[in-house]
Amino acid sequence: MAVTALVTGANRGIGLEVCAQLARAGLDVVLTARDPERAAAAVERLRDAGLSVRGEQLDVADPDSVSACAARLERAGVAVDVLVNNAGVYPTTPLLRLSEAEFTESIEVNLLGAFRTIQRFAPAMARRGYGRIVNVSSGGGAMTDHVPSPAGYGIAKAALNALTLVAAAALPPAVKVNAVCPGWVRTEMGGEAAPRSVAEGADTVVWLATLPEDGPTAGFFRDRARIPW
Ligand code: NAP
Repeated sequence: MAVTALVTGANRGIGLEVCAQLARAGLDVVLTARDPERAAAAVERLRDAGLSVRGEQLDVADPDSVSACAARLERAGVAVDVLVNNAGVYPTTPLLRLSEAEFTESIEVNLLGAFRTIQRFAPAMARRGYGRIVNVSSGGGAMTDHVPSPAGYGIAKAALNALTLVAAAALPPAVKVNAVCPGWVRTEMGGEAAPRSVAEGADTVVWLATLPEDGPTAGFFRDRARIPW
């Protein structure tokens, strides 16, 4: 049986490319997006490229949407083995002018989104004795030799890194949980000046999503190498 991967925020950018690479690697892919029409359009784009993936509506900021998506998949007999928490937003307002609404949205999407999907999908991975969870974080959330930035983004990604460690500790070793910085990537978020293509940005995400049994867990990676938290 093929391994099934679910990717959040996958209608464009790094998430869409992760879906393409995982499908090419032979996984069954559930491409999710908060807007069902954008999900359908992205599925169509991949179909045009010769790849077959399943599209689902999933708004990580809406607990009911996460539950409803999981219930639809259960009814369809689809078990999620690999979870890629890719959905993200990028507020750039400096701390002293950051509104509570902007900060809350960042926490909702960048942190609570992953919390919700992990709570919903990880228990079944633990029961089946196989799972890979990849939290798409950022060097902007690193704290060892860096102040998290921009404020509303960096704080949420730092907390996503903490969630990565806590989830890895809460799950059996067969369910590997890692965080990844894709580097600065040419997407709507990264902008046109970014040096990396989406293919380059997706590479370490896909590597972590398909780790072998002796692969790492509870790590933070860029370019397939550990980086400081
Ligand atoms: P992007 O092109 O802006 O794509 C972001 C994706 O997240 C879009 O599909 C967006 O959907 C989705 N999204 C936002 N809110 C959502 C929600 N509530 N529920 C579900 N999906 C939601 O960004 P990207 O560059 O591909 O970024 C992907 C991930 O990489 C993010 O976590 C980002 O923080 C991380 N990252 C990116 C870079 C970079 O240089 N690009 C660097 C470091 C880390 P809509 O189309 O509906 O808005």
